[in-house]
Amino acid sequence: MTVPVLMYHSVAADPADAARGLSVHPDRFAAQLDLLAAEGFTTLTVGELAAVRRGEVPAPDRPIVLTFDDGYADFHREALPRLAGARARATVFVTTGWLDDAGAEAAGRPLDRMLSWSQVDECDAAGVEIGAHSHSHAQLDQLPDAALRDELSRSRRLLEERLGHEVPHLAYPYGYSSARVRRAVADAGYRLAAAVGNLAAAPGSDGYALPRLTVARDTDLDTFGRVVRGEQHARIYWKQRTLTAGYLVVRRGRSALAAVSSGRRPS
Ligand SMILES: [Zn+2]
Repeated sequence: MTVPVLMYHSVAADPADAARGLSVHPDRFAAQLDLLAAEGFTTLTVGELAAVRRGEVPAPDRPIVLTFDDGYADFHREALPRLAGARARATVFVTTGWLDDAGAEAAGRPLDRMLSWSQVDECDAAGVEIGAHSHSHAQLDQLPDAALRDELSRSRRLLEERLGHEVPHLAYPYGYSSARVRRAVADAGYRLAAAVGNLAAAPGSDGYALPRLTVARDTDLDTFGRVVRGEQHARIYWKQRTLTAGYLVVRRGRSALAAVSSGRRPS
């Protein structure tokens, strides 16, 4: 069975400009939850999907996974009460260095107001699964090995120390990974990692490249319905795939140029 894994970011009526394109209006988010309930979907966390994939628990009727990247403060304010009202499960992938009160651990540049540690606690206590999303939201495939290991282990350690339980799942910043990054993620002890693929996740698909489907501000309810039903993914996401492919070419070009100018061989 293929399972749609949705990727949200912020849920806000008035997000910061930098976060706007991937921010979903709270009213539309509520309508999306209503649609999932009306069509008989069962929401799972990433951890619950992992257990289904391992055959430890049977798959429910019409499973679907809701994930939220970065850890925006509006998840606590807007999404959490609506999820609770709909009795829906979710996973939030937190960039630990971006947290509002990261203090001495602050790293990277958040795009909008982020969750505080106490809000992360509240989400965890409310049954939301907390996953890691690197420490500074770096492009992991561009990092040398030591920095890559630090991004992966620091975010996991900070979350596990705070929450007092294992945090075995990760989402790649920007959805990017390479074979080297996926190996480092496995070596760091993560058991599953989510990417972006704009495909539904098939049972035998790579657990370190779990594909997710983007939900953006311009995803209207009709399109959302087709995405969750698995209809016309190729047609809905063709433009985004083209953009992503173009961006990858640009990034590879830049990294090759940087390698040449620093005397390294491009990898
Ligand atoms: Zn992110």
